[in-house]
Amino acid sequence: MPLTELIIDGFKSFADKTTIHFDQGITGIVGPNGSGKSNITEAIRWAMGESRAKSLRGSSMKDVIFAGSELRKPLNRAEVTLVFDNHNHELKFDNEKVAVTRRILHSGDSDYLINNQSVRLKDIRTLFLDSGISQNSLAIISQGRVDQILNSRPEERRIIFEEAAGVLHFKEQKEIAQNELVKTNDNLIRINDIVKELE
Ligand code: ATP
Repeated sequence: MPLTELIIDGFKSFADKTTIHFDQGITGIVGPNGSGKSNITEAIRWAMGESRAKSLRGSSMKDVIFAGSELRKPLNRAEVTLVFDNHNHELKFDNEKVAVTRRILHSGDSDYLINNQSVRLKDIRTLFLDSGISQNSLAIISQGRVDQILNSRPEERRIIFEEAAGVLHFKEQKEIAQNELVKTNDNLIRINDIVKELE
């Protein structure tokens, strides 16, 4: 399920619509300090549903919108699209290509789209969790993350291994199912009470 294209429009330093094509093999992105290399990986994580502004080096999510420069006015929206080659259908879609888009307006409202169809953030997260790459996964290791992993406590490190082994998804599903069971149990107790009252 290779990422074949990244289209960045109005995100951070990318004021103009910019398309990056990823060919087979390794792609290296080089450039002077401050030229926007990290903004590229942040654009990928953001489109995958990153919801913590801090992890994108901002204080609010609106900070991802191009904030203007000496020569250009600020923009009022940002959009990032990830295009995946899905010919082996690793993503649960019939399409050979899957385009995941996230948009944010100056009001702070975010939209998510899969192949131009509006979806919920939950759908984006599920899509990537099922494929084993979430926005926190080891598919993207940013600066400082290596130190963070080496210095983490054993329990934190275990989560990293669980994610890599694909266990985390099942743990999340188990938690959801357990919460449902608790709710169902509560409902049964309530129904029993009502039945007793009526008897
Ligand atoms: P380094 O090699 O030092 O790590 P880098 O190439 O990874 O640098 P980035 O950190 O990706 O560079 O980009 C930083 C640049 O992005 C800065 O010039 C900063 O002003 C610009 N930038 C960040 N957010 C915005 C924004 N919302 N609007 C405009 N420019 C932004």
